[in-house]
Parts: sequence; C-alpha cells; structure tokens
Amino acid sequence: MTQPQITVGILSGKEIEFSFPVKFSSSVGTEISGTQKVIYQDGKIHWQGKEYDELSFIPPQNAHAFFELKDVTIGINFHWERKEVQKFKGELKIIIEGEQLTAINVISIEEYLTSVISSEMSATASLELLKAHAVISRSWLLEKNKELRMKNEEFKRTLQKDSAANSSFFIPNSSFIKWYDHEAHRNFDVCADDHCQRYQGITRASTPQAIEAVSATRGEVLMYKGAICDARFSKCCGGAFEEFQNCWENVKHPYLIRQRDSKTEKQLPDLNIEAEADKWIRTSPVAFCNTQDKKILSQVLNNYDQETADFYRWKVSYSQQELSELIHQRSGIDFGQIIDLIPVERGTSGRLVRLKIVGTLRTLIIGKELEIRRTLSTSHLYSSAFVVDKEYEEKGHKEDKIPSRFILTGAGWGHGVGLCQIGAAVMGEQGYKYEEILSHYYPGSTLEKQYQ
Ligand SMILES: [Zn+2]
Ligand SMILES: [Zn+2]
Repeated sequence: MTQPQITVGILSGKEIEFSFPVKFSSSVGTEISGTQKVIYQDGKIHWQGKEYDELSFIPPQNAHAFFELKDVTIGINFHWERKEVQKFKGELKIIIEGEQLTAINVISIEEYLTSVISSEMSATASLELLKAHAVISRSWLLEKNKELRMKNEEFKRTLQKDSAANSSFFIPNSSFIKWYDHEAHRNFDVCADDHCQRYQGITRASTPQAIEAVSATRGEVLMYKGAICDARFSKCCGGAFEEFQNCWENVKHPYLIRQRDSKTEKQLPDLNIEAEADKWIRTSPVAFCNTQDKKILSQVLNNYDQETADFYRWKVSYSQQELSELIHQRSGIDFGQIIDLIPVERGTSGRLVRLKIVGTLRTLIIGKELEIRRTLSTSHLYSSAFVVDKEYEEKGHKEDKIPSRFILTGAGWGHGVGLCQIGAAVMGEQGYKYEEILSHYYPGSTLEKQYQ
C-alpha cells in the first residue's frame, strides 16, 4: 500500500476566494495564478465566466507550493473565533454541497498529520506523547479508508454476533437512552475543525517535535486481530478506563476494556457496584492521570482549558432552582422540582450509564454518559462519574422535603474510553516509550506499518 491521500473539507459558502502564489493547473486544462473567486449560482460553480459542476487546482511538482484560502473561520464557538487567510499544500477542490460551495484540500496523510499534531498538541509535549498521538490520529484516518474499512466491517460483524446490536431508542415515560457517535461527512473524509481534528494546513509553522513524531511513526497504526483499532481518547479517565459499549453502540471492543490507569496499582474495585463507585469517586486513588503538575497539564490542555486543573476529582453545586431550570432547559422536559438524582447503572470507570431523575411532576431514566453530561450542565459536565449529595433547608423528615441544594462530586474529564491524555502525558514524562503508552491504553493491540 502506498501512502494514501485524504480529503479535508475546509470551508463552505456562496462565494469562495483563494489565490495561488505560483502556477497551478486547473482540471479544465488551464494554468492559473493569482487571486481567484468562485460563486455558487443555480446549481453550478461560476468561475471566469463559465459554469462547472466541480473544479480542481493541482499544484506544480514543487515541495513548497501552496495555495491560500480567504475567510477561514477558526475557533468556532470559542471566545477567540475569528477569520483568517490560511495556507495549504496539496490540491484544492471546489464542489457543490446543497446550495453552496465547499473547498476541499486533497493532501497526503503524513503531511496532514504533521499539521494536526502541530496545532492540536503543545510544543512542550514529550516526543513519546506526540508519537502516541500521531499513531492514534493515523489509525483513526486509515480506519476511514474505504478499502480497509470493508475488511473492518467484516471483522466487526463477527464481533457483534454475540452482543445484541442495539440502536438509540426511546420509550416515552420511562427512559430516554441515547448516544452520540462521530457523524461521518458525505463528500470528504474529515473536516478541519474540532468535530474531526483541528487542521490549519501550513498556516502556522509545524513544530520540529511534531515533524519528528510523525516521521518516526510513519505508516504505523494500531491493530487488533487484523483490523485497525477504533482508537478513542479523552482528557482524563479519572483513574479507571471506561468500556466502549457503556458510551456508544452496544459493541465490545476487546482492546477498550476496564483497567486501572496505573502500572504500580493493578487493583481496581468493581465500580459497577454503587458503594465501590462512591468510595472511588470521593477519594483520590493513585493513577497516572492523578496529577496537578502544571507543566504536564499544559502539554495536553491548550490555554483555553488551563483554567481548570481540578478535573481528576471535581465538584459542582446547584441550588434547587438552578438545577430544575437547567434540566428543564436542557432536556426540554419539565420535571417540576427535583427530588432526587439516582444512579441506576454505572460502567467500569464509575461513569453513569443510566441516571434516574425524580421530579415532582415526573420521573425519567436518562443515558448514556454524554446525554447525562449535557442534561446536567449548560455546556458539558466534566464526566458522568459522579455521586450526588443533597442538602435540606429545614430540619425534619427528609422524605417529605425537597432538597435545597445538590452537590455533585465527580471524577475525570470526558468519556474515559481508550487513551487518557493526561495519563499518557505523565507516562511520557516518566520515560515510557510510545509503544508502552499505547499498549497500556489499548491492551492487546499491536503496532503495524501500513506503508513505507
Ligand atoms: Zn468533521
Ligand atoms: Zn487516566
């Protein structure tokens, strides 16, 4: 297999402006340079007085050739959202999507990865952490590759035989269980923002560490029994790994399994049991990700995130009014006053898979973890691994009373499945090699080179 190319959707609009500092050849046989503009009109691409269904602009055989795209929005939904001119190597493709145009960058996987690792990871990260991330990103991309994908689908079907393949379902009046998996794009492999992986072409110089991490792992992906792994990762597992089926579709992945995030402490209590989960979450057990080291945290969290250092164990407190309004607003369901939040089912990391919300007007069980996190926060609760304490204003029989305050004590940040970024950063800092980091977080997986 030669190095595959991937297609990255960069931006959409009625008009797209771009420029070529050197001569590019167009798919209609002309050579062009300088500033260009394409406009969507009546189902066609309008360019230089003619109409097209699709256009491509191919760079010359020059390793340094690039094109520029105007008005690329970066930091979507962040306080620093703005527009800028971005530079890209590789080919520019313009297609029609709905009632507008989309600019797509066609680029080699290794070139793409260098850019992604440079912009997603801090330059102070250890080389081994960057290598581990390069392998994860590459695995994720190649898993999308169509040829390999078919092989993978076949493999998944054999895995699914025993586990009941479920889909998101809704039973009115009793429970509301759903999950959110990554939605695929139809006309390109990945988009350029955080939905897939943040990609800014060569707008910012690649860091030497990212270049080294990508080239040292060139072509390497994580495999399990002949298929590329679904290499999930999250910010902080909270000390124990969650299993795949507790967050998404009911499929077991043998390399995404329960384990303690430690090499010295192998014991992991059964966190499906409420009393064990309660004890685990209220204490601060030894784990790779149990760290307050700002230097290590800054390797994984970008500046925006660094305000939060207490995510291994955290607390959130809501008044009765805050919580009942929040749940009403987020779920669209009026529970009245909230009487209780009762754990129904927990996963292997103590994350709640199902939570019962008891209100004065109605009672409902919700899940899975992301739905719980969305319902109990204006953005996202750090994780669904939490225990609930209630406070009451007046003394007397609690049974008759409405709690005045709910205190959520929790563990970890994100879904906790697969690689724990904080834990992996600590491992890298402690001198573990990327192969060791990957085999710790994806037990039983192997590293294989897919191309030279
Ligand atoms: Zn995307
Ligand atoms: Zn961890």
